[in-house]
Amino acid sequence: MSDIKKNMAEIRERMDTAAKKAHRDPASVVLVAVSKRHSVEAIVEAYEAGQRDFGENYAQELRDKSKELAELKDIRWHFIGNLQRNKIKYVADSVSLLETVDSVRLVEELDKHAQKHNRIIECLIQVNVGEEEQKSGCTAEDAADILEAIKASKNLKPAGLMTIPPWDLESEQTRIYFKTLKKLREEMGGVEVLPHLSMGMSHDFEVAIEEGATYVRVGTAIFGERPPRLV
Ligand SMILES: *Cc1c(COP(=O)(O)O)cnc(C)c1O
Repeated sequence: MSDIKKNMAEIRERMDTAAKKAHRDPASVVLVAVSKRHSVEAIVEAYEAGQRDFGENYAQELRDKSKELAELKDIRWHFIGNLQRNKIKYVADSVSLLETVDSVRLVEELDKHAQKHNRIIECLIQVNVGEEEQKSGCTAEDAADILEAIKASKNLKPAGLMTIPPWDLESEQTRIYFKTLKKLREEMGGVEVLPHLSMGMSHDFEVAIEEGATYVRVGTAIFGERPPRLV
C-alpha cells in the first residue's frame, strides 16, 4: 500500500475511535483531505482510495486542479483559505463548499457568481472564536448577520460553522475553541439550521470529533509535509 492510502486508513480508524468514544456515529464525521500545494497525482491516489472531499487554500490553485481533474465528477472541493472577493471568479464554477465565509459582502458577491454559473454553493461561516486580531473569520456577533445574508441569497445554502484555533496550540488546548463554536451553533438555531461543524486538523482532529466536528480538515497526516509554496 502507498503512504497516502496507508495514512488515510490510519486516520479513518482514529476518527472512528474518537467518534465512538464520544458516543457518535463514525459515519457522521467526514474527512476533508487538505491537498494544498500537493500534486494532482497525490489527489488521484487519495481519490482511488475512496476519498471525495478535498480542501484547497489558494483560488488559482483550486481552479487549475479542478480543471485538470474535471473527469472526477464526484469530487467535492472545499475552499478553506482566505478568499478575496476579486478571486471568487476562480473558484465559483468548481467549489462545492466555501468554508471561509466571513462577511456579508463576500456572501453577496459569491451569490452573484453562483447564479451566473447556475450552481448552489454551500457556505460555512468562519468564526474567529479566539478573537485574535491577525486572523480571518468573523466575530460571533457578526455571524448572525452573515447567516441572514446567506438565507436571503438565491444560490447559497447555509451549511454550518468553521473555526481555526491559534496554530501554535497543543491538541488538548484547542478543545475550548471547539466547545465555543458548538455553543455558538446552538445560539444560532442549532443543528437544523447549521448542520456542520468544520474543526480539527492533523494534530487535533480527535479532540474536535469529541466536541462535535462533522468535517475534519487533515493535510499533513495524509500527504506528508507540504512542498514550499510556488511563486
Ligand atoms: C492547511 C490547513 C489545514 C490542514 O492542516 P494540517 O496541519 O496539514 O492537517 C486545515 N485547515 C486549514 C484552514 C488549513 O489552512
